[in-house]
Amino acid sequence: MTIDVTDLAGRHVTVAGLGVSGVPAARALRGLGATVTVVNGSDGEPQRAQAAELEPLGITVRLGDGTASNSGSAAGLPEGTELIVTTPGWKPTSPLFLAAEKAGVPVWGDVELAWRLRGPDSPPWLAVTGTNGKTTTVRMLASILEAAGLRTAAVGNIGVSLLDIVLGETPYDVLAVELSSYQLHWAPSLRAHSGAVLNLAPDHLDWHGSMAAYAADKGRIYEGNQVACVYNAADPATEDLVRAADVEEGCRAIGFTLGTPGPSQLGVVENILVDRAFVTNRQKSAQELAEVADVNPPAPHNIANALAAAALARAYGVPPQAVRDGLRAFRPDPHRVEHVADVEGVSYVDDSKATNTHAAEASLGAYEHIVWVAGGLAKGATFDELVLAAAPRLRGAVLIGADRALIREALARHAADVPVVDLDRTDTGAMAAAVREAARLARPGDTVLLAPACASMDMFTNYNKRGDAFAAAVHDLASGPVTDEQ
Ligand code: ADP
Repeated sequence: MTIDVTDLAGRHVTVAGLGVSGVPAARALRGLGATVTVVNGSDGEPQRAQAAELEPLGITVRLGDGTASNSGSAAGLPEGTELIVTTPGWKPTSPLFLAAEKAGVPVWGDVELAWRLRGPDSPPWLAVTGTNGKTTTVRMLASILEAAGLRTAAVGNIGVSLLDIVLGETPYDVLAVELSSYQLHWAPSLRAHSGAVLNLAPDHLDWHGSMAAYAADKGRIYEGNQVACVYNAADPATEDLVRAADVEEGCRAIGFTLGTPGPSQLGVVENILVDRAFVTNRQKSAQELAEVADVNPPAPHNIANALAAAALARAYGVPPQAVRDGLRAFRPDPHRVEHVADVEGVSYVDDSKATNTHAAEASLGAYEHIVWVAGGLAKGATFDELVLAAAPRLRGAVLIGADRALIREALARHAADVPVVDLDRTDTGAMAAAVREAARLARPGDTVLLAPACASMDMFTNYNKRGDAFAAAVHDLASGPVTDEQ
């Protein structure tokens, strides 16, 4: 069955999932005259509130719908379905999609729908994906584009629905778009102006089925690029994806590196970020863009993010000065290598957003002497590689959460001399206890770093709450004598 996006009036469309992308999708489809049914496995308070928002528009919402749930076993397409528009979280193996495949019904992600609905004068997309660093890079990119006087927004997986942007009234010159591997999986016709894959490490493999499938979905960001495919020179898998992509004639592969850049790369020379790609004589000359100190915070992984953002902005034609001004104006989102306070000569840093080992390795690599606060839900990860890389920098470790034994065992194998405090408690005071233990292990000049390498949901609602608990405990530490209340 082929569906024309300009001809949705009267069509039966099923939306898989509510939330930040499902609700705008349902609304947009109804606005185009489609008959819309939303199916959502869970049936809690937030879902009911969303249903109450949609039903007055003539949209049918089925909450707790077992036949179409993400993990349910029974398969069934709502009566008459001609198209499914899915939110990103739904697994490709969900019964609903298997039923759709059998019936020849197409499945589009909300990003695919947005791409197809964009008008002829719609702004180009500068797109970013990667295992880690997406949100930071997209925000840096938007800041640079703004500094160049362009009308832009950071959108997509960052929490701003592309549908709302594409169908909204606000005019834009260019968009800074964050895309997850899930969104890319369901967006086969997307063709960005330029795209970047920041890095590739195993993540979400239960969703994609294998590392190869995960990488292939990330690689879709390069398909049909017009000006530049931006890759990480330190991560050859990202360059492989560029080679595998079908791009527009004349589109260039542009690398970023923390070392001296070669031709067609951006990199770092004597603490200066330089561009040796978008210059007139790239064999002989390079353009200064900014100083390392302009990047906030100037940790190595974040300089890589800044170079990727700069590469996309330069591909769009932004002048060098706007790169510097945009990086200077950029403020990181909370809980991403965020300096909380210095207490008695020890620096406390909240990287609660380091929810996987690849992210934690990046922030552990940014400090010399570290008391590491880690643990939570491991999501099937192993910790040997991470602990091996971090071991020489560790003053000590304080472990929290459900899967802390996995980290403790890796520390015992590869860093037996490092003192470890294993906190066997999950109550609301557990993070405060962890911070106090970390303070005892730290010496002046050290960094106490919350980089859990794990998800937070065993003890906290989300990584924000985990970071907030860490910051509150640090401020308590700063403000007075410590009591050991349980
Ligand atoms: P994402 O949107 O991909 O989750 P964020 O920008 O929110 O990425 O950063 C998440 C975490 O990943 C940060 O807190 C940091 O620990 C880590 N991180 C950021 N950039 C990189 C990078 N380029 N390489 C590795 N880890 C990174």
